[in-house]
Amino acid sequence: MELIHTMKHLAVLLNAKSFIGNPSAVIENLVIDSRSIINPECALFCALSAQRDGHEYIKDAFDHGIRNFLISDENYFGLYADANFLLVENVTVALQSLAKYKRELYAIPIIAITGSNGKTMVKEWLYQLLAHEYNIARSPRSYNSQIGVPLSLWQINEEHTLGIFEAGVSKNGEMHALAEIIRPTIGILTNIGEAHAEGFSTSKDKLLEKLKLFVDTELFIYSPDYIHGIPEKELPGVRKFSWSTTQNADLKIMFIEPIEQQTYISAFYNGATIECLLPFRDKASIENGIICWAALLALGYAPDTADLRLEKLSRISMRLELKNGINQCSIIDDSYSADISSLAIALDFLNIQNQHLKKTLILSDLQETGKSNEALYEEIASLIRQKQVNRLIGIGPNISDFASLFELETKFYNSTQAFIDDFPGQHFANETILVKGARKFEFERISKLLAQKLHDTVMEINLNALASNLRFYKSKLNAGVRVMAMVKAFSYGSGSFEIANVLQYHKVDYLAVAFADEGIALRKAGITLPIMVMSPEPSAFEAIVKYKLEPELYNLDIFKGFLSFLEDHEHAYPVHLKIDTGMHRLGFEETEIGDLLTTLKVADKFKVMSVFSHLVGSDEQQHDTFSEYQIDRFLVITERIEEELGYKFIKHIANTAAITRFPAAQLDMVRIGIGLYGFDAGLPNNKGLQTVAVLKTTVTQIKHLKSTETIGYGRRGALPDGGSIATVKIGYADGYRRDFGHGVGKMLIHGKMFSTIGSICMDMCMLDVTGVDVENGDEVIVFNDFLTIADLARQIHTIPYEILTNISQRVKRIYFYE
Ligand SMILES: *Cc1c(COP(=O)(O)O)cnc(C)c1O
Repeated sequence: MELIHTMKHLAVLLNAKSFIGNPSAVIENLVIDSRSIINPECALFCALSAQRDGHEYIKDAFDHGIRNFLISDENYFGLYADANFLLVENVTVALQSLAKYKRELYAIPIIAITGSNGKTMVKEWLYQLLAHEYNIARSPRSYNSQIGVPLSLWQINEEHTLGIFEAGVSKNGEMHALAEIIRPTIGILTNIGEAHAEGFSTSKDKLLEKLKLFVDTELFIYSPDYIHGIPEKELPGVRKFSWSTTQNADLKIMFIEPIEQQTYISAFYNGATIECLLPFRDKASIENGIICWAALLALGYAPDTADLRLEKLSRISMRLELKNGINQCSIIDDSYSADISSLAIALDFLNIQNQHLKKTLILSDLQETGKSNEALYEEIASLIRQKQVNRLIGIGPNISDFASLFELETKFYNSTQAFIDDFPGQHFANETILVKGARKFEFERISKLLAQKLHDTVMEINLNALASNLRFYKSKLNAGVRVMAMVKAFSYGSGSFEIANVLQYHKVDYLAVAFADEGIALRKAGITLPIMVMSPEPSAFEAIVKYKLEPELYNLDIFKGFLSFLEDHEHAYPVHLKIDTGMHRLGFEETEIGDLLTTLKVADKFKVMSVFSHLVGSDEQQHDTFSEYQIDRFLVITERIEEELGYKFIKHIANTAAITRFPAAQLDMVRIGIGLYGFDAGLPNNKGLQTVAVLKTTVTQIKHLKSTETIGYGRRGALPDGGSIATVKIGYADGYRRDFGHGVGKMLIHGKMFSTIGSICMDMCMLDVTGVDVENGDEVIVFNDFLTIADLARQIHTIPYEILTNISQRVKRIYFYE
């Protein structure tokens, strides 16, 4: 019997300060984001205060149908007459109490996983490996924080026989709280690398903190390579199972050998040699595979069974990918696990795409433990309604059974094959299509039909990282400061509407582009934010007005030109004035301000939205005096303009680096450019920012050369001792400049660094891979978070801006969202 939780029940449990509303309202799910909501009638919105105060989203949540609120700010108590409010001291603590209560209710075994890397992969794989025997509750995606863990635990119900949860900490003291919530019976420590070391003084501190998770476990699975003798003392009475590639261990790895796209591993275990085959060959997957192997053995599985199961592991991808499709479609390819909470996230992502009016969902049967099909498909139907999908193509016998629940254009197929057989007769054009299927439906076959063929060289854009960088800067802003996001030059090479959609969703105030056509492209893709055009040519005035773009007026010529163009315009038109305080590129000089003001006062066709200037050296300390000078001049000038004009406008001068280096210069708005894409010369090592772009290509051929042979044009490359080279599919036409030739440029294959050899060609270049096992088809990283754009910039004496914007349009972009 499912236990029913009511508001009254929760009020008692949480020892709430106050309650108002209907005590018998039923709560099933907890929600912290007002946007992705399933089954709103039975949801409890928890107003957490992180970067933004969650109470600000109560209205939004109410508008989405939520009627139950957990709050800590009395001002919101009883805000709506027909809603229920629970008032507590601290919402995060309350959330954790709810999770502890759930844990106590169900005494199932729980595996807890922590480490710096690999937590999610190990969790998902153990789920695949153990699903034969257990009904498993697990963390959604990588929910492992002080908030993610309680939300994960809350999902446990009476049908579950095992839990697998990840736990992550960012500073000392947090793990104890997580251990109390999860109360794991089995612990797994994954790779301890350098990730997330910031909140800790030493790596030993970090390790000791992580080990707190395992104090009360019965079994602990780890590698001594990562813990240098610590656990013997730290975890008394816990049974330990170790694995290692270098030292004695319960599972001593003897031999790791790649065989085509698989990896053969043999090990010494229980006095015998055992083996397994992993269907991967990259370093991280091999290590995480070994951890899963150790876990299976430690849990008592026979080596043969473990091998059979490991061989069938499938790669987990936790991403949504946005790609170009056939007939101008946009395709969102979703390989999340196929449950309803991931469907809600995917539909959210579909919903923020504005580039096409029509939105189609291709969905397979889903599975959800502890829920009848009827209830499940009713929820799905309500989600689809809420997210304004126009067309549903349902694939599978179950979803077809519930066809009558869906009130939109629908079509149903019994199997993926039936859909594919019917594909030639179907019509897909100018629409955004979300493809979401449970693994056994093999929807990659459908994506293949719909997506444009990708070239081997792609730039992957991480939209979560972009959003995270935006949040980072928002947290650095003084109260009330607005954000203009610079999306000129194809958003610094990262994309057009794909980026703008995300920025619009995360509520920036303004966008800025260099030329009118960039702004027009955004409007045509449904972007409604105000857009400033920095170089408004007179030939584009008509289009500027037609598409509601706002020009930057930077001298009297352009000012008068646009003014006379507006002669017959009825209303005052929004414009921006650029002041030159030292850049000497565009902008009114201080000496021209008198003339500007005379004209401006009679220019009643203009509404000055903002006045701004640009700093020339905000990222370099040597120019700080000049930056201060620019800021001072700007303030004097804008004050004068404001006085004469008689109304207020937005004043802005700060670019990325100035936001943290000159907080007082944030004024009314900041213009964030390169920082969104992960670089800020004002932050040591870009601390706090995430890498947004990864450029990848592949090896097309391997050649073995004798000492007498030469490589490439002009015979400029040579291997004096002979050796091997890999030809990779990127050249200067892709934006990988010729300056990277002759060993200057480096690329990564399987985590190893290789230098270029010979000159860079137009579409290809060569790497020296002598002595290393590299194969045709291997993935090659040109830049990522390890080999960074900043490294590349240093190698050829330029700046990250140029490396990014150089990547040519022929390099396909894939956008992903986790
Ligand atoms: C490009 C640009 C910016 C953004 O500069 P970043 O250093 O990339 O933040 C700001 N203001 C103006 C006028 C620009 O042209």
